[in-house]
Amino acid sequence: MRRSFTFLLRPTSKQAAALTQCLEDHRQLYNAALEHRRTAYGKAGVTIGYGEQSAELKEIRKADPGGQGRWSAGSQQQTLRRLDKAFAAFFRRVKAGRKAGYPRFKGRGRFDTVQWPAVKNGASWDSQPSDRVTRVYLLGIGHVRVHRHRRVSGTVKTISVKREDARWFVVLSCDEVPAEPLPATGVVAGIDLGVASLATSSDGERFDNQRHLAACADRLAAAQRDLARKQRGSMRRRKAVARVAALHAMVRRRRLDGAHKAALALVRAYDVIVHEDLRITGMTRSASGTIEQPGRNVAQKAGLNRSILDAGWGVFLTILADKAESAGRELIAVEPRNTSRTCSRCGHCAKDNRLTQAGFQCVACGHAAHADVNAAKNILRAGLALREAARAA
Ligand SMILES: [Zn+2]
Repeated sequence: MRRSFTFLLRPTSKQAAALTQCLEDHRQLYNAALEHRRTAYGKAGVTIGYGEQSAELKEIRKADPGGQGRWSAGSQQQTLRRLDKAFAAFFRRVKAGRKAGYPRFKGRGRFDTVQWPAVKNGASWDSQPSDRVTRVYLLGIGHVRVHRHRRVSGTVKTISVKREDARWFVVLSCDEVPAEPLPATGVVAGIDLGVASLATSSDGERFDNQRHLAACADRLAAAQRDLARKQRGSMRRRKAVARVAALHAMVRRRRLDGAHKAALALVRAYDVIVHEDLRITGMTRSASGTIEQPGRNVAQKAGLNRSILDAGWGVFLTILADKAESAGRELIAVEPRNTSRTCSRCGHCAKDNRLTQAGFQCVACGHAAHADVNAAKNILRAGLALREAARAA
């Protein structure tokens, strides 16, 4: 199993300066390699690939010992590969006849990640195992302290450093991470993804109340309005920009944190979890939290707050899939159509069953329930039917 681990880095001020320089040099390498490809094609019609560019690294490093030569050839190769991937994606889009978007030059502050293959001389994880604290070694930067808040398992394949505002993170991508199966609970559940709660299960449990995230979104909206009033180039504007960036980062952290907690609680509680397949809806569930009933008064309130709460579902399902795999739990995705307007007791499907956002009442049999729980029950039933069919086939 492949899995990644992210930790906060605690560089010394000297190391932080070196990290900044390292990012900057890799950015310039990226831009130079892009320029090279552009002019070669534009002037001579020659297509240059990763192989040629990588072969030139040796010369570049030799010519600039105090600059590019300081860093690991491995991380520079990864940067050239990243450009190669950008081109590959560009050509794929061209071929498919879609709007292409030629790979772009990365401006300052638009290049925030460097990746190293985890080999001894370029970068190594837990580089001073005898030390009390965990450190990661990065060539040209040193042994940087890591706030390792959980255990790392498997084999570290790549080490990335990421800058987020003023903070630095290390991301380990590990192979052969052993699964940690959980004991069976004998319980199966469907979950409805929502706005008030990230997930509601068919047995009525709610996972991750998103009130805190919504409060965060309100503050972000206020900060953005404030920013819009500031004069360009002013000190106040710079401060307002920093405030918006910090709030964006806070939203990301809270969302991730909530998603991890909810996913963990779910895999602990249930052997089988059925959820809606978001790829089918294209994540276009409208503001009332259902596809079928868009809701009227929500459009205005929508905006930022909505988009922040909605964006969490994709992240959450990815995390849930990882945890389910590790714990040996079964995850089933079902088509979300009609799950919110169908009665989970008698199966009657009608728009009128759902009169408010929270309330469900069946016009045929009178069954009343919380709308999310009713939907989760339908999702569970669909998932179990799918499972039966798969077994019979
Ligand atoms: Zn009914």
